[in-house]
Amino acid sequence: ATPTSIMVGTGRAAENGILFKGGEHLELTHALNAIVLDKTGTITKGKPEVTDFTGDNETLKLLASAEKGSEHPLAEAIVAYATEQDIELVEVESFTAIPGHGIEATISGYKIVVGNRKLMNDNQVNVNDVEQELIDFELIGKTAMLIAVNGAYRGTVAVADTIKESAPEAIRQLKEQGLEVIMLTGDNERTAQAIAKQVGIDQVIAQVLPEGKADKVKEIQNKGKKVAMVGDGVNDAPALATADIGIAIGTGTEVAIEAADVTILGGELLLLPKAIKISHATIKNIR
Ligand code: ADP
Ligand code: MG
Repeated sequence: ATPTSIMVGTGRAAENGILFKGGEHLELTHALNAIVLDKTGTITKGKPEVTDFTGDNETLKLLASAEKGSEHPLAEAIVAYATEQDIELVEVESFTAIPGHGIEATISGYKIVVGNRKLMNDNQVNVNDVEQELIDFELIGKTAMLIAVNGAYRGTVAVADTIKESAPEAIRQLKEQGLEVIMLTGDNERTAQAIAKQVGIDQVIAQVLPEGKADKVKEIQNKGKKVAMVGDGVNDAPALATADIGIAIGTGTEVAIEAADVTILGGELLLLPKAIKISHATIKNIR
């Protein structure tokens, strides 16, 4: 590999909004045969909105007050929804985030738990009666969160996040370039499958805990693949560092950008096949 052609290649990439931290990453990009994409904020816009809420106003007040303490995009959506309804938020006495599952808080002596089925099970909250309702939300790609107050189910809040317009075309091009395309997410299997279907991804790894994403990348590498990981979140950072090429979404967190080898500006997914194309053109010139 001549240093000059690598420099020309990374320069061309930069002009397009693809920032390689070093020339060696451009060479490695040429060797990739699998690409793993985080769902929220990478494939989707990462701006979820509440579409359904089945509880009463008192529950909404507790729910939003509790979520105020969380930095998760799901929490922001819930707080925005409550604010639109002129719900007044109250002080919380305690707050705990349970990564990959939800949150717990104490407010005016009430214990409120918000999150997925697993979190309800762990807290002995019976949600059997709403299982079908949950499935219906998930089948259309919504993330449904269950709400319990003092150990009893009080409602469901469903949130939807739309896919980026160019995602289907970007994924089509990546497949055409011979890459295996895989979606990786902490969200539940059904919601993940619904979003995957909208963008043309047929391999989904769902319900992965934040600390488990890097292990999943390693498993794919152990099958003999050269893997790129694309992500935006703090919880994607270990997976970005583990992958042969870590690609951060420019609109994502600083932590992800630091852990990655490449950053794509503006989160434009069409820059992914573009990066592959530039690496191929560069390496071809070298040989
Ligand atoms: P993602 O990979 O989509 O960012 P996470 O691993 O952060 O997912 O979260 C997985 C699941 O945990 C969510 O789909 C949701 O059910 C639950 N969860 C996470 N954070 C919260 C929160 N602040 N409030 C309620 N539920 C949450
Ligand atoms: Mg994300």
